[in-house]
Amino acid sequence: MAKTQKFKTEVNQLMELMIHSLYSNRDIFLRELVANAADAIDKAHFAGLTNPELIQDWSIRIDIDSENKTVTVTDNGIGMNEAEVIENIGTIARSGTKAFMQMLSEQKEKLAETPELIGQFGVGFYSAFMVADKVELRTKKAGSDDPAVLWKSSGTGSYTLDDCDKTTPGTEIKLFIKDDAAVYLDRWKLENIIHRYSDYIAYPIILPVKKVNEDKSESIEDKVVNTSKAIWLRKPSEITEDEYKSFYSHLSNFGGTDYLKAIHVSAEGVSEFKALLFLPKTAPFNLLMPDIQKKGLQLYVKRVFITDECKELIPDYLRFVCGVVDSSDLPLNVSREILQENPHLAKIEKTVVTKVLGELKKLLENDRESYEKFFSEFGRMLKEGLHTDFANAEKLKDLVMYESLNSERGKRITLAEYVNAMPESQQDIYYITGEKTDAVASNPALEYFRKQGYDVLFMTDPIDEWVMQSMFQYQQKHFKSVTKGDMEFDGEKEKIEEAQKKYAQLVDYLKSELGNEVSEVRFSARLTDSPCCLIVDGAALSPHMERLFKAMHQDIPESKRILELNADHALIEALNAMVGKEEKKEELSQFVRILWEQALIAEGSPLKDPAAFAKAVTALLLKSAK
Ligand code: ADP
Repeated sequence: MAKTQKFKTEVNQLMELMIHSLYSNRDIFLRELVANAADAIDKAHFAGLTNPELIQDWSIRIDIDSENKTVTVTDNGIGMNEAEVIENIGTIARSGTKAFMQMLSEQKEKLAETPELIGQFGVGFYSAFMVADKVELRTKKAGSDDPAVLWKSSGTGSYTLDDCDKTTPGTEIKLFIKDDAAVYLDRWKLENIIHRYSDYIAYPIILPVKKVNEDKSESIEDKVVNTSKAIWLRKPSEITEDEYKSFYSHLSNFGGTDYLKAIHVSAEGVSEFKALLFLPKTAPFNLLMPDIQKKGLQLYVKRVFITDECKELIPDYLRFVCGVVDSSDLPLNVSREILQENPHLAKIEKTVVTKVLGELKKLLENDRESYEKFFSEFGRMLKEGLHTDFANAEKLKDLVMYESLNSERGKRITLAEYVNAMPESQQDIYYITGEKTDAVASNPALEYFRKQGYDVLFMTDPIDEWVMQSMFQYQQKHFKSVTKGDMEFDGEKEKIEEAQKKYAQLVDYLKSELGNEVSEVRFSARLTDSPCCLIVDGAALSPHMERLFKAMHQDIPESKRILELNADHALIEALNAMVGKEEKKEELSQFVRILWEQALIAEGSPLKDPAAFAKAVTALLLKSAK
């Protein structure tokens, strides 16, 4: 005899919503039912470990009856007895569903405006009512004598329970498809949904297909429509190169199958998940176009696809990594909103970052050539991390590379290599920023370092300046810019003081002649070959940074330069002799103009007055050509 029972209130509310609200994504009903079926098989599978009689050929079937307008999802899993049907189908226990209900009660108005929010929640079994106006569930508990149960409901306040004649264990859910959901009676539609959401379910999903035989008669054949092999759950040793390649091309969207490295992550304990990540070989064209680039990893929960581009799983600076994370801790009914706050995701992200940085370090140590290629494609992103991921800054510092004064042109060195090669007398890590290697290499500010044999890192990536604002030390050594004034030169103090006295009139003259252009004129030990160079105060923006800002049309105050002179240069002596001589007045002024503009060129800055400079140089040429 059929018994009628009322749903618990919250189920009622939920069903009301299912039936009367709009959905942006009704497709998920099948994902939910298939996931439940797979869970039920998992349970039977597990029970089969101690009771081998339960073991059978596991499968999930989806049958379409277009005449009666039904879709039936059948599994041969654990099934339910009557008490379990009441408990599981008549009540809401799941946290995801509960959160959904809570949001419903708190944000009714918001929902009315943005009904697509509802679609973002998976809501389990009840999502069947999004596409069906009547649902019949037949189920028989595996390994028990409990009678099979027939549960029926139209989703309107109550359901009925009855016995039924199902003899095989498992559950069969028949959906009477609504008129406005007739699209779900189309086989291809269902196959597409399975591909999208349930491809990696471990059991075969069978969707019968019509076949035209040679004699033109028609027959129906079973067809398995899912791949079922979740590559990320398999042992790396059992995965072929081709399988990796095809999975990479499926994931990457970059085109091509050539990846640099596949990384398996298997985490147990606090947060249980498995991941398969790929480092690409070459940067896709859209990597630097944030708007069209896909970011984040794919998220699965127990082999069920949840979302693409899950940004919570990996920080932005590692956006070149693509892959899949499959969590065992998250509820299937997880929503975008819940994802953002979920502590499991933060834990997964942490593990993923540690693993990726660790693999990069290994690559650097074991396959330098590949790492260098990798770095020239993606190094800029790792540098971004130095500025944004302080927790991993030390690991990232081990991974960045730069060209340098003492290294072969085009070759980069690591910070560790720099520090290892430092002579004992050298205290700090020296660097210079600028647009191009050639330009920085000829900056006169390097002369002292060249003479001492100290290496200087060439930071020629626009991002380097920005990164250096938060990179102060490496292995307890401070970073120092060679174009800044806050530098001590050993053992040169007396000589400088002497020159300062000896050439006092030249210094005064330069100060008055260059007036507004410079903040100071002084001697320093920085130079060996050039007569002078320009540097900036320790706290000021570097000339390179200044140019970057200007290129972005940012109005920034120009930092005044310090003009440093070389006491050993013959020109300084000669100029000093000209000061105060009336007949040399004009010539001296021209010389100073040339010297000044030339120093600007040397630091990579544009000329202040190109026409005056050209005129002065021409006059000089003319004089010496005569
Ligand atoms: P969830 O699957 O998120 O727990 P559902 O509303 O989808 O929530 O399902 C509620 C419960 O009903 C499940 O936890 C499970 O115990 C039971 N159930 C649903 N579908 C099946 C099935 N095909 N076989 C056995 N039990 C099922």
